[in-house]
Amino acid sequence: MRAIVESGYRVITVRDYLASEQSPPFVILRHDVEWNSRRAQDIANAELKLGLRSTFYFRVNTRAYDIPLMLQLQNEGFEIGYHYDTLDRCNGDFDKAIALFEEELSRFRRAGVNVYTVCSHGNPRVRKRGYQANYDIFKKDEGLKRRANILGEAYLDLDFSAVKYLSDAGIRWNVGLTTKQIEALLRTKEQPALYILVHPDYWSRSWIRALALKCATRGIKIFRINNIIAAIREYSNILSKTR
Ligand SMILES: [Zn+2]
Repeated sequence: MRAIVESGYRVITVRDYLASEQSPPFVILRHDVEWNSRRAQDIANAELKLGLRSTFYFRVNTRAYDIPLMLQLQNEGFEIGYHYDTLDRCNGDFDKAIALFEEELSRFRRAGVNVYTVCSHGNPRVRKRGYQANYDIFKKDEGLKRRANILGEAYLDLDFSAVKYLSDAGIRWNVGLTTKQIEALLRTKEQPALYILVHPDYWSRSWIRALALKCATRGIKIFRINNIIAAIREYSNILSKTR
């Protein structure tokens, strides 16, 4: 974040990017909140200290769904959006997935969260039958975007040829660089426009959790990250009881 600010990039939300022409240099900063809203809060606090406002997309069917936090972040100037995976959860049934999408989107809005953009969740462990990605609901139902009254979708409406996309989706940077190297890349100011995805759940202050995340990047097929974390939590509970 400091590298972004010190290099003179303007941080914008997905909504900003879709709403009007943006002059470079800028960084579209996006967070997908998957499991734990507390970690989103930590990231938001760090951004607030630097005067940044990004976009947070929240899952509905996990502990990420934290309406009080969403309202607080919205008040602080962050963009809040819906991180949907309804095709995965409806086993590829488009009619059910579209209905569930609309129902969940209205849940956000009824709670007072102003959703302007939405973002597809990708889970490589879910077998996709008859579709490629959760955002296929917008390809199948061309009227959905208008009916849902949204500005756009964080994958479908982004021009990926015009921005450098950096993502930590695999618990490592997609471009094969370390975080230090990403910092160096930002400081060269060579990229006029970047789109950066940071998952709050993949970052930690606690070394033990950071280590578990690192293990998960090496053997994600063997171990499931949540199982590792649960095991560590249990182990540290045992330790604290025996102390
Ligand atoms: Zn996701």
